[in-house]
Amino acid sequence: MYLQHQYSTGRKWLARLPYEGDLLEVLEKFAAEKSIRVGHVGVIGAVKKAVVAYYDQQKKEYGSLVFDEPLEILHCTGNLSLKDGAPKAHMHIILGSKQGSALGGHLMPGTILFAGEAVIEELIGPELIRGYDPQTGLPLWEK
Ligand code: ZN
Repeated sequence: MYLQHQYSTGRKWLARLPYEGDLLEVLEKFAAEKSIRVGHVGVIGAVKKAVVAYYDQQKKEYGSLVFDEPLEILHCTGNLSLKDGAPKAHMHIILGSKQGSALGGHLMPGTILFAGEAVIEELIGPELIRGYDPQTGLPLWEK
């Protein structure tokens, strides 16, 4: 059996995210301030610059991609759980360029907001904790 927990919906926020805030940092700080231990997050808006990563499954390491240009946040979704006792936001993002093409990946620190509208949903239930998974090399949910 693989890990699965059942949750019910807790508090829910809509938040206008700060201009020039670091998207990942803003979300993790929000979770810490509101004591959200498990949650679901969605964001739309725009960024001045984006840093995303692609996980190389053979090498078991992330490679970063930097997009130093204004981009739309077409879709950004992910979750909140605990890693090393602190809220960890795991987010993936799809960005739209001026030409309308899509870029994206695993959201990294260094993604700077131009504007952001977030829906943050707290989930009530068991703690969800990340730990090192030797099979993938990733910090996956372990309990
Ligand atoms: Zn990821």
